[in-house]
Amino acid sequence: MATVTAHALGAGHLTIPERFFVKPADPDARRTVPSLSFLVQHKDARSGKTTRIVFDLGMRRDLSLYPAALESHLTSRQPISTDPDPVASLAIGGLSVDDIDYVMFSHVHYDHVGMPRDFTNKKTKFIVGHGALDLLNGKTKHDLGKHMVFESDLLPLERTIELPPPEVSDNPSPNHAQFKWKRLGPFPEAIDFFNDGSLYIVNSPGHLPGHINLLCRLSSTKFIIMAGDACHDVRLLTGERDIATWTDETGKHCCIHVDIPTAKENLARLRAVTKDGIEVDGEAARAQVELVFAHDFAWEEDAVKRGRFWPGKVQ
Ligand SMILES: [Zn+2]
Repeated sequence: MATVTAHALGAGHLTIPERFFVKPADPDARRTVPSLSFLVQHKDARSGKTTRIVFDLGMRRDLSLYPAALESHLTSRQPISTDPDPVASLAIGGLSVDDIDYVMFSHVHYDHVGMPRDFTNKKTKFIVGHGALDLLNGKTKHDLGKHMVFESDLLPLERTIELPPPEVSDNPSPNHAQFKWKRLGPFPEAIDFFNDGSLYIVNSPGHLPGHINLLCRLSSTKFIIMAGDACHDVRLLTGERDIATWTDETGKHCCIHVDIPTAKENLARLRAVTKDGIEVDGEAARAQVELVFAHDFAWEEDAVKRGRFWPGKVQ
């Protein structure tokens, strides 16, 4: 059975007020959380070729390189740390940006995009979900708060692949022939990235256009799903809390998700796989699914103890 290895990469921390993420919330509670990045490695059974993917790049190591429009928002997220960033984290295990074949983004919020410009090698491709490019180029606008600042020059377009619209189709457009969305367990749309069942890009809508998750098969009985910002607090998975909404100083109704009902449906699917596992077509047994979201501080603490950061032990 084809599998991948997955390691966490340090990609900085920021501090978030609880009230913007869950309700009911302690109005004064704030927590410093990671913005996790991951290294996923796949070895082709026939050719022996290793493909390396970095999923999300976390916080930008030099905050002054963010757009000026983010300055006041960043002030509200202090304390922030940015060392090590994913490039320094890769180097701890002897890898450089030149070893990376794909950089994939769960979505293009500032705390997940890091410094794509570090990845200068022509072989490195960037992959974003459908709709992410229109956020970056300004065609899609969501007036939902000061963190919604996007950069039109974030990615080199000649090396960027935007996934096709997440509709299950037997006839994908020629541009996207290798990326075909198919149902997978409770997920209506997933792409079998290597065509061997080891790594799926899962459509994960609701938080921001183009939001995707990575579902990685670590063994015959275990997957891990990197859920980005589909979930911000483990109590949303257990059902102890609900997604927060609030009214800002101008009277505007706000939420960190652009589409709350869709974000809730998506969360329900993630809750289902963490509880019941996932059944992949043609396989006898359900596999267990571990979920890690980008700002999962408890997962990070445990991962540090268990050596799950690169280049720790293979999971
Ligand atoms: Zn986000």
